[in-house]
Amino acid sequence: MPENYTVAFLGLGHMGGPMAVNLVHAGYTVAGFDVVPAALDAARAHGVPVAASAAETVSGADVVLTMFPSGRHVLDAYQGSDGQPGLLAAAAPGTMFLDCSTINVDEAREAARLAIDAGHRSVDAPVSGGVVGAEAGTLTFMVGADPEDFEKVRPLLEVMGKRVVHCGAHGAGQAAKICNNLILGASMIAVSEAFVLGEKLGLSHQALFDVASAASGQCWALTTNCPVPGPVPTSPANRDYQPGFAGALMAKDLKLAVNALQGTGVAARVGPLAAEIYDTFAAEGGAGRDFSAIITDIRDKSDARDGAEDIPGVKAGSAPHNTAQIAPHVAAQDDGSPE
Ligand code: NAD
Repeated sequence: MPENYTVAFLGLGHMGGPMAVNLVHAGYTVAGFDVVPAALDAARAHGVPVAASAAETVSGADVVLTMFPSGRHVLDAYQGSDGQPGLLAAAAPGTMFLDCSTINVDEAREAARLAIDAGHRSVDAPVSGGVVGAEAGTLTFMVGADPEDFEKVRPLLEVMGKRVVHCGAHGAGQAAKICNNLILGASMIAVSEAFVLGEKLGLSHQALFDVASAASGQCWALTTNCPVPGPVPTSPANRDYQPGFAGALMAKDLKLAVNALQGTGVAARVGPLAAEIYDTFAAEGGAGRDFSAIITDIRDKSDARDGAEDIPGVKAGSAPHNTAQIAPHVAAQDDGSPE
C-alpha cells in the first residue's frame, strides 16, 4: 500500500465528517460519500472532496473506511442491497477494508470474512472519544487485525486519534470496545446511585467525591464524568448534561455487550440490568443527553417513591435526610430486612 493512501470515506455523520476532515488536512487523498445529501454538503463545505456514488468513491481507493450506525449498515454496504452491487465487488483486489463503526463482535468477524473471501484485507477499529475527539483528532482506536494490516493502517489511525491499540485478531477491536463500555455503563449507574444515596443520607456531593475519588470507589465515571455538578467542573453535569457521550449510544453499546454476553454464555447479571436501565433511560427522553444524566432518572424515581406506602405504617420516603438525626438501632429496624 502506498505511503499516501487514497481513502474512500463512507459515512460522513457526526463522527465520520470530522474524521474525514482530519485526513484531508493531513494530506491524504480522500473521496467521501454518504447516503444523506446534507452530510455530503457539510463534508464538502469543510473541504472533503465528495463523490456521486459509493462505487465511484471506492474505485481507485487503497483503503475503504466505513463509519456507519450499525453492523447491518456495514454488512449491507459490503455485500450490496436492493440489487445494487456492494463495496467489496466495486473495490480493486487487495483493498484494505477498515470499519470504524461500533458493531457486534460477530458482525465484525463476518465483515472480515466477507472482505477476505472477496480478495481484500480487513481491519475493525471502533473508537472512543466522541465527536469532540473526532474533531480534535484525539480518538482512541481499538483495533482487530492481522499484525501486518495493523501496521499498514496505524499511520492513518494516528492522524485521527491519539491512541491506537492493537487488541488482537478480527473482532478484537469491537470486543475491547463493548467490554470497556460495559464497565463504563455499570460504573456510572453505581456512582449515580451512590450520589443519590448520599443525598438521602445528608452527605454533600463534595464530601462523597473527596472520599471516593481518593479511595476504592475511584473510577472514570466519578473523577472525569462526575454525574453531579461541582466536583469536576468539566463534566457534562455542569452544562445540563449536554453530551459528551449520549444516552442513546450507551444504550446501543450495552445492547451489543449483552449480545456478546449471551453468545458466549457469561453468567452476567449487572451487564443485562445496565442495558435495560439505559434502554429505558434512552426511550424516556435521555437519548440525546449525556449518559451521566442517568442520575436525574434515579433521583426522580427515588423522589417519586417518597410518599409511597412501602412498609405497613412506614412511608418509604419518610426517613430523615441525615442519619445523624436517627438513632442507629432505629435505622437498623427501618431498613425492612427480616433480621
Ligand atoms: P451518524 O448517524 O451521525 O453517522 C452515520 C452516517 O452513516 C450517517 O450520515 C448515514 O447517512 C451514513 N450511512 C449509513 N449507511 C450508509 C451507506 N451505506 N453509505 C454511506 N453512508 C451511509 O453516527 P455517528 O454518531 O457518526 O456514529 C457512527 C458510528 O460511530 C456508530 O457506530 C457509533 O456507535 C460510533 N460512535 C459514535 C460516537 C459518538 O459520540 N457519536 C462515539 C463513539 C463511537
